[in-house]
Amino acid sequence: MTSNSVAPARLAAVIAAERDRYAARNPSSRVAAEAAMRHMPGGVPLHWMKDWGLPFPLAVASASGAEITDADGHVLADFCLGDTGAMFGHAPPPVVAAIRAAAGRGLTAMLPSLDAGPVGDLLADIFALPFWQTTQTASDANRAVIRWARAITGRPKILVFEGCYHGQVDDVFVTTDDEGRTALRPGLVGQVTDLTRTAVCVPFNDIAAAEAALAAGDIALVLTEPALTNTAMVLPAQGYLEALAAACRRAGTLLAIDETHTISTARGGYAKAHDLAPDFLVVGKPIAGGLSAAVFGFTERIEAGMRAVDAARPSGYSGIGTTLSGNMLALAAMRATLEEVMTQAAYDHMLGLSAVLAEGLAAAISAHALPWTVTRLGARAEIVFSPVPLADGRAAARSIDHDLEGALHLFLLNRDVMVTPFHNMTLVSPATTRGHVDRLVAVFAEALDTLHA
Ligand code: PMP
Repeated sequence: MTSNSVAPARLAAVIAAERDRYAARNPSSRVAAEAAMRHMPGGVPLHWMKDWGLPFPLAVASASGAEITDADGHVLADFCLGDTGAMFGHAPPPVVAAIRAAAGRGLTAMLPSLDAGPVGDLLADIFALPFWQTTQTASDANRAVIRWARAITGRPKILVFEGCYHGQVDDVFVTTDDEGRTALRPGLVGQVTDLTRTAVCVPFNDIAAAEAALAAGDIALVLTEPALTNTAMVLPAQGYLEALAAACRRAGTLLAIDETHTISTARGGYAKAHDLAPDFLVVGKPIAGGLSAAVFGFTERIEAGMRAVDAARPSGYSGIGTTLSGNMLALAAMRATLEEVMTQAAYDHMLGLSAVLAEGLAAAISAHALPWTVTRLGARAEIVFSPVPLADGRAAARSIDHDLEGALHLFLLNRDVMVTPFHNMTLVSPATTRGHVDRLVAVFAEALDTLHA
């Protein structure tokens, strides 16, 4: 028996049977994968798409609302939702209509469209920060925030938390080693610079550790998600984020809250719901309904700081910005999302149904007397292989069991239900129905029966 109380031999047998079942039921996906493999390593346009751990990639024929139709005609209840990019459902009708209309007016011109004013107003209203800039991805937004923070404070270092993820952002690819020292994340490709000179990593939920690091006086920015969602999910302890924000203020360090995933919490995100008043806020992925776009917001003080930095520097490239950011199409999609999709009614539906889902999953876990928990943050719920909620990134890393996770994912997929390939994350969209939720809960219970047979 493993710590997760699934016998290794049983796990291996289930995985083998499910891989055969997958191969048998997806002949068209296999053909599509072979075609893609001619020029794309692994048959995928982004290597992460191999992380589903499938015998060959599943090819999507179409995606709508909370469902994906694959190349073989299976209609899957999608709780992955593009790992949050489609959190408001696949192709929300107002976004599709806005994209259709905008496409006829041109796509990109490196000039603001007439949507810039309304999008700024909507962002300020929804997220309660006065100033905004757009980027193509949340990774880009975090990189921009890091540069601005260093420029404004004149300090070199960034503080992040063990188990964090903020996108393809070189500056913060750090973790801690067994002695608690900041170290490079293992597995980085082509890493030649020593990031530990300019990044500090401490455990989440440990205010003393953060305060000790801030005391050095050389940290420009603390960059964090309000809850760690990119390792098995770690929620903030009561009062922790408020204490962190206060510690940043005392130390003259800026605070960036990355809401790319925690936008699942509530309309306006976690920071607004909990009055965290960060200096910067980053939102990516679903902000334009699934079209590539992200934003970062900031306070009046930061905006003044940016102007001062700009006035003092020689002209030339700032190191911030990419050509297609804020293009006409992205702004139109963002406006439709903010105006018509990211509504309070949508969140009411998502949060209510996610609570039902979390209860259903937890009931199946207790029926099998498993030492697992379900952690929920608004529309996001995660099955965690730990008997108690996780305190920090180290505990989260210990709880992850890739084989068991992979077996569960494949079992679900073979029965027309998808969850995120990275850990056991589920998301509920405005288009998700009680029927989808019941299907996931029933198939999950069947998976537990099979693993424990
Ligand atoms: N921030 C967080 C919290 C994320 O979870 C991610 C992606 N998982 C990113 C930033 C980066 O997003 P993108 O890959 O769209 O740049």
